[in-house]
Amino acid sequence: MLERNRAALPSSLDTLAPTRRLQRLRRTAPLRDLVAETGFTRSQLVQPLFIVEDPADARDIAGLPGNARLTPESALARLDADLESGVRQFLLFPVPARKHARDFEPAFICETIALLRRRATREDATFWLDTCLCSYTADGHCCLHDARGEQDLPATLDALAGLALDYAAAGADGIAPSDMNDGRVAALRLALDAAGHDLVPIMSYSAKFASQLYGPFRGAANSAPKHGDRRRYQIDVRARRDALASSQRCADEGADLLMVKPGMSSLDLIQPIADATGLAVGAYQVSGEYAALALLAREGFADFDAALLESWHALRRGGAAFIITYGARLGRALGLAAR
Ligand SMILES: [Zn+2]
Repeated sequence: MLERNRAALPSSLDTLAPTRRLQRLRRTAPLRDLVAETGFTRSQLVQPLFIVEDPADARDIAGLPGNARLTPESALARLDADLESGVRQFLLFPVPARKHARDFEPAFICETIALLRRRATREDATFWLDTCLCSYTADGHCCLHDARGEQDLPATLDALAGLALDYAAAGADGIAPSDMNDGRVAALRLALDAAGHDLVPIMSYSAKFASQLYGPFRGAANSAPKHGDRRRYQIDVRARRDALASSQRCADEGADLLMVKPGMSSLDLIQPIADATGLAVGAYQVSGEYAALALLAREGFADFDAALLESWHALRRGGAAFIITYGARLGRALGLAAR
């Protein structure tokens, strides 16, 4: 035995140039687990819920398997099932029956918030309210326009603050402005504080890019713009500095949490934003990203569960403190720990 080992040794140190076999630590699951650098739990996943005012609009969402537009009543049943699946964070999207130019009608979503709140305490579930105008406005834009067709920023900020106050008064745990209008975080923070909601956090969509990946969502939220697009207020995909500046400003204006969107195409920004602001930065795995994985799986090109986990780990590796995903309710089935 000794002889053979000796024979295997190189005769001279000159020849000692071992191949760096990185595969050694990839060989078994225990070894892969040993050197894994990312991990997360179900408590770091956020599940979107779409709430419709008109029961006739309640149906499955094209492209997002496992997600449906819910009536207030079916949202209760969904909440029960999701809590059972270990979801603790929810992001609510109101889908009103009627659209208006200025005077919006959020009563149905406020009643839904109150309904859900009575079912789940703040310790059981966190309800974030997506706060934007595009599902309310007749033209489907995230801002209001004046008579000349220009953005009416003061009126936009007033309208956003009005919605946020209604949501907070109804029992929302947090406000999540997704509109990308200048000054919204400051306007919301001031309004919330003045109304006694100073402990209601703001999760700002701080780096939200104009993207082709929002398609299934726009169908679900009935929020596609009727004219033009959103490039006048969302960030250009080429504008990294803008994304960093937008996030820094949200932090300066009092945001508690920041977010990049779409998640996978913003991987280069998550950690830099967190480092620059000192805030936790989440990633929104948007509807097009989720739908793409579902379509790959449907065509037999990928295993959906494995692809979903892979995408979450990539976002986490990129620095995401939390992940908003249409598959949050699958977390337990995928083997994620509760916390
Ligand atoms: Zn919007």
